[in-house]
Amino acid sequence: MKDVLAAPWLTELVRTCTNMYAHGWDERNGGNISLRIDAEEAAEYVDPGAVLRTIPTGFRAEALDGMYFLVTGTGKYFKNVQYDPAANLGLLRLTDGGETAELLWGYTDGGKFTSELPAHMMSHAVRLAIDPAHRVVLHCHPNNLLAMTYVHDLDEKAFTRTLWQMETECVMVFPEGVNVLPWMLCGTNEIGMATAEKMRTARLVVWAQHGIYGAGRDLDETFGLIETAEKAAEVYLKIAHLPWKQTITTDAMRQIAAHYGVTARPEFLDD
Ligand SMILES: [Zn+2]
Repeated sequence: MKDVLAAPWLTELVRTCTNMYAHGWDERNGGNISLRIDAEEAAEYVDPGAVLRTIPTGFRAEALDGMYFLVTGTGKYFKNVQYDPAANLGLLRLTDGGETAELLWGYTDGGKFTSELPAHMMSHAVRLAIDPAHRVVLHCHPNNLLAMTYVHDLDEKAFTRTLWQMETECVMVFPEGVNVLPWMLCGTNEIGMATAEKMRTARLVVWAQHGIYGAGRDLDETFGLIETAEKAAEVYLKIAHLPWKQTITTDAMRQIAAHYGVTARPEFLDD
């Protein structure tokens, strides 16, 4: 059996936690990440028959039955993950239609998975049905996106178009735009279901007055999605109070999408 601490998927997730903390997006114990891992890959590092603990999840997710996920722990600080991955992370296998998590590695101090597991797992189920290569759900509190949810209309088309206008790259990076949830109580199955529903049409879901969820095929792609939207929000906040002399027009958005071969969400592409 190989050493889990040397697994490329674990190393990459640890680096992502450290990077996100350094960006200031995960103050205190804020933020959480889940990464889907192939059963064969996991079996190189842990004995699939050696279940350390079983933990009820409190929700169903039939589509994820038997799948493996590396998940950040509840109450854990991203800044500490690099110093003690085994206490701060856990490798889970879902069973009983998603109602039970079997712990195969990690949470060594008796802890458990993030309180946002419903939002993560329900989002995984939705994104996997759309893209079989999907692997990552990532949640954090990026400063500028968060600030923007106080001063900008939460209408998804309006919110997306503002971000698309702030940097030429945005239409290319998230052509489907961003979806937005109004403020809701976090850590519940309700916000989990609402987030997953929003994940049907976009890989980015803003939680007003809280943060953002991103989904993607790998950690780099998902981090990059949030990084790009956050940069756009930063530019917006720098100029929102100033008179605009020019911007990226709808025609320019169409040109960017056509040139880079992406389909920008059609209903967001009219003035
Ligand atoms: Zn949060």
